[in-house]
Amino acid sequence: MQYFEWNLPNDGCLWQQLKEDSKHLSEIGVTAVWIPPAYKADEQQDEGYATYDLYDFGEFDQKGTVRTKYGTREQLQEAISALHDNGVQVLLDVVLNHKAGGDYKEKFEAVLVNPDNRNEDAGEPHEIESYTGYDFPARGDKYSSFKWHWYHFSGVSVDSSTGTEGIFRIIGDGKGWSKGVDNENGNYDYLLANDIDLDNPEVCEELDKWGQWVVKEFGFDGFRMDAVKHMDNNFTRNFLKCVKEEGGDNFYAVSEYWGNDIDALKGFLDAVDNQTDLFDVPLHFNFHAASEKGAEFDMSSLLDGTLVSQNCDLAVTFVDNHDSQPGSSLESEVADWFKPIAYALILLMREGYPAIFYGDYYSENRVGSCHRVILDRLLEARRLYAYGEQDLLFDHPNVVGLVRHGDDEHKDSGLVLLMSNNEDGWKDVCLGPEHAGEHWCEMTGSINDEIELDENGCAAFSVKGRNIAVWIKKQG
Ligand code: CA
Repeated sequence: MQYFEWNLPNDGCLWQQLKEDSKHLSEIGVTAVWIPPAYKADEQQDEGYATYDLYDFGEFDQKGTVRTKYGTREQLQEAISALHDNGVQVLLDVVLNHKAGGDYKEKFEAVLVNPDNRNEDAGEPHEIESYTGYDFPARGDKYSSFKWHWYHFSGVSVDSSTGTEGIFRIIGDGKGWSKGVDNENGNYDYLLANDIDLDNPEVCEELDKWGQWVVKEFGFDGFRMDAVKHMDNNFTRNFLKCVKEEGGDNFYAVSEYWGNDIDALKGFLDAVDNQTDLFDVPLHFNFHAASEKGAEFDMSSLLDGTLVSQNCDLAVTFVDNHDSQPGSSLESEVADWFKPIAYALILLMREGYPAIFYGDYYSENRVGSCHRVILDRLLEARRLYAYGEQDLLFDHPNVVGLVRHGDDEHKDSGLVLLMSNNEDGWKDVCLGPEHAGEHWCEMTGSINDEIELDENGCAAFSVKGRNIAVWIKKQG
């Protein structure tokens, strides 16, 4: 579960809430939580992506606050302990592309570049001034004595001496945009704030050290790597290798490569030696398109061009996240009516490692989500019935589904999932003669009538329009 969303209140209570929630999360089948960037950002209310000090987890009075938006270091450690006591892994959101909130200004040479083609200069090199000096006054040298300067960055967004805003490429010996990044806008190294120079050996050494420190210090089970399309692949590959030396071979990683191009995703995985899973962004976009187009969307193409269909071992399937929700930078939220369909697919399909979004389970500002009831039912279906071999039934433009045949380990497991984006429908499904005469029922509450399987274990399984049906063997 992604345990945060964009609009959480700035009350410093998330770690406390997570601690109290750890038993419940374990009971519903959550095996890992992805927590937001937990270190000090440029201001208290920031979600954590405007990173200031990677070593300050709410411990030092910096940027006008000891705690972060989510709480103090002590509260975070208590939450991690509680989660581990309940068998739930903790994945830290790791932001290494950029830093914000520099402590003081420095002067250096830079040149404005064309934002649509960052390989093209849009002016003459000249001296500018920007907040690229970091000395961490309250932390000092504790945990690390590394201080950041302009030459540890590749680009900045403002010349403070004139107030000019834009993308400035920093000029200096061996400096320039990283080569191993996404090629959108010519070169997509620069995203925002002070872009970290991941080709600088001092920077790489410091970040590798930090990666090992944070795993040892907090006992994290894995990382969620932010913004990897803007980071040099060589750095990411070496960083993950280095962190796994501390965290062990089972140390988990999932990376955010936001893009709909499956070839770019596969190219990244290749470049980092497949050391990380990737969020299945193309699947998210298919869900988004299906939810917008309604009956016009061809449901048999729902898995086309997705990572889960082409490299399922490394795919983390999800419906929405903090970036796709309304008002966020990459807004593309899946419409409410389609969310049960999307979640049924990712939670019950054999392939992929599914992630539930806090915003869909708990909703904004903890007011309660309309999707929680169906998510609890689907999590139950996943825990009890979603086992064994699978047949995909993606053979109709409006009604698709899948069969899980169950296994010997889980008594009476197996299910038939059907999904419709138009009218009521059905599919003839044969489960085999060993199921002859069984009674099956629908477990999410969308259909009340039972069905009886014939002597070959076949029946017409139905689904209501714009809904899901999860059929299981009638218990007892
Ligand atoms: Ca970058």
